[in-house]
Amino acid sequence: MSFTSLGLSPFILKALAIENYSQPYPIQKEAIPAILSNKDVLGIAKTGSGKTASYVLPILNNLSNKPLKNRHVKVLVLVPTRELAVQVQEVFSTFTMALPERVKTLAIFGGVSINTQMIALQGVSILVATPGRLIELEESNAVHLSDIDTLVLDEADKMLNMGFKDEMDRIFALLPKKRQNLLFSATLSQDVDNIKQVLLRHPEVIQI
Ligand code: AMP
Repeated sequence: MSFTSLGLSPFILKALAIENYSQPYPIQKEAIPAILSNKDVLGIAKTGSGKTASYVLPILNNLSNKPLKNRHVKVLVLVPTRELAVQVQEVFSTFTMALPERVKTLAIFGGVSINTQMIALQGVSILVATPGRLIELEESNAVHLSDIDTLVLDEADKMLNMGFKDEMDRIFALLPKKRQNLLFSATLSQDVDNIKQVLLRHPEVIQI
């Protein structure tokens, strides 16, 4: 099976060829069609499985079909660490270059100056964030979460193990009710299952 049969647009297929992604990995074969059809997804997969591209590619494909009617964030990816935030943003950035329209992506995380991030947030459509810094920025009115239509939780088990549960709940409460939710975790712990129950509607469950 090739990427062509998964329903991705020609400009994404072109970018995949440039990046030398010739065949989809197992998680991509399942997650890409589900996300393209706007389903919620629970993906149980470890780093190295190709999980990042499994949501980045269909999210960009979906985004390119929607008018970016204002300059608010449309896609929010919550991650546990600065390292993962940077890594995920880089994958988005690689593939946004293929889009016909310019789409701005940004990673935000704690431990660095907040002022620089406040300025960088202008016009960002895809935001990758650690929970604590996102709340700080939201409280300072530097970011609006009212237009988010896609939420991704990546390494959800690690995020919960690191004690981010309260911050995550606070963020969920700020998001529009109608949205697509994608939950990725290396393990299906009780805590992850609780989030699944609260967040996901009729999810496609993918276990690699
Ligand atoms: P991840 O599990 O998302 O951290 O991805 C692991 C690595 O696999 C990254 O270096 C990706 O660039 C690479 N990768 C993901 N999907 C593919 C693919 N279909 N073909 C080749 N490389 C891939």
